[in-house]
Amino acid sequence: MADKKQTYEQSHGAAKVVTGSAHLLVTEKSKILIDCGMFQGKNEYMNDEPFEFDAKKIDAVILTHGHLDHVGRLPLLYKLGFKGKIYAHPITFDIAKIVLMDSGKLQEEEYETKYKKAQRVGKEKLIKKPLYTKDDVKAMFKKMKKNFIEYKKPVKITKDIKATFKDAGHILGSAFVEIDYKEFGITKRVVFSGDLGNKDNNILPEVKKPTYTDALFIESTYGDRNHKSFEDSKKEFKKVIVDTLINGGNVVIPSFAIERAQQLLCILKEMSEEKSLPKDAKVFLDSPMATKVTNVYKKWDHFLRKNCQKYKNHPFEFPQLRLVKDVEESKKINSITRGAVIIAGSGMCNGGRILHHFKHNIWNHKNSILFVGYQAEGTLGRKIIDGARYVRIYHEEMAVKAKIYTINGFSAHAGQNELLEWMNEFKELNRIFLIHGEYDKQLVLKKVTEEKLNKPVHIVEMREKIYL
Ligand SMILES: [Zn+2]
Ligand SMILES: [Zn+2]
Repeated sequence: MADKKQTYEQSHGAAKVVTGSAHLLVTEKSKILIDCGMFQGKNEYMNDEPFEFDAKKIDAVILTHGHLDHVGRLPLLYKLGFKGKIYAHPITFDIAKIVLMDSGKLQEEEYETKYKKAQRVGKEKLIKKPLYTKDDVKAMFKKMKKNFIEYKKPVKITKDIKATFKDAGHILGSAFVEIDYKEFGITKRVVFSGDLGNKDNNILPEVKKPTYTDALFIESTYGDRNHKSFEDSKKEFKKVIVDTLINGGNVVIPSFAIERAQQLLCILKEMSEEKSLPKDAKVFLDSPMATKVTNVYKKWDHFLRKNCQKYKNHPFEFPQLRLVKDVEESKKINSITRGAVIIAGSGMCNGGRILHHFKHNIWNHKNSILFVGYQAEGTLGRKIIDGARYVRIYHEEMAVKAKIYTINGFSAHAGQNELLEWMNEFKELNRIFLIHGEYDKQLVLKKVTEEKLNKPVHIVEMREKIYL
């Protein structure tokens, strides 16, 4: 039997799945959470399950970065009486606010739509209420006890826990966290990787080197593969834009609002400066969320990689760019038949303004649809990539005549080699635990890590208690 006061870790999400990151660390004197994220996609139903710990007894939450799968259940934690402190990089607070407000809004909209439909058959009482609304998010930020953690500066979190952030190069503000805690009077260390970035990118510095740890909890999203090179992908991207515009068409690009949209703007800026982007071309960023996040990236631009700061004016500003403010402005794009590059959400085409742009462009062979991110099974994006000749958009059947391109080298996550290289940088690393990954991919990473690093690797189960 393990001693009651022995420190343990327990994952309440992102165990054998990618989303829902929430890792409980219980020491002799404190209980903290590392991330409190939302389950997404096929695991969404898990958001309804209650936390298996008492939210009132959590002393603090450390946020590794602002993605929804790392911050999305914070409002639920507050609803259950959490009164502790939140620790994050200042940029993460900025991004988390945008992300959570958007999540609250989407949930409200989804509820209203379903409610109206159900009302017509007298079943409105069966409709599940939103997990939280925009007002819940606003209220949460009002009472939130915010504590900033800057990179490389150790911060005391509780009586027996100290945390240090190092840049993870995944999205702006992202960090891996070194946690030093006391156990029976001895200081020990556990490292949580958060999400690790792909160093092959154009706007973020590469992930910092780790030092040492007793135990490591590492993400394994792409544990089974390596990404295509960024340079090659950038070339492909530019070629699609140039060719389509020369042929008198439009390019429609579904994009995630965080990181991907800014990467694309930076490439388009490069094209604008090297004059491969025609002067009279119009680039539309038609995503209120991407615009907000781009403003956060501008505000904190000294954290961008050096070559991204070389421009006299901003890396995300160029004459051809139009930031679309409202729906009216967005609708006006519909009448443009040539010379436009339209970047819009959602990234996986399961809603949002991208659908309107598909509707007006997908049936014309002169246009191009350019996929630059992962399209999950069951999404409209996946159907198009898989070669569907007809798709339904807003109850209307449309022929897919536009050229379809997929570019795979823009991932914000480390590939297998990078994960191995990063683990190999530890001067001392005793135990490795895999989190934040699908099981089949984790099995691959476990095998290569055990072979190459000659250390045992454990795949973390949901709610398994791991004594450190
Ligand atoms: Zn992330
Ligand atoms: Zn994640």
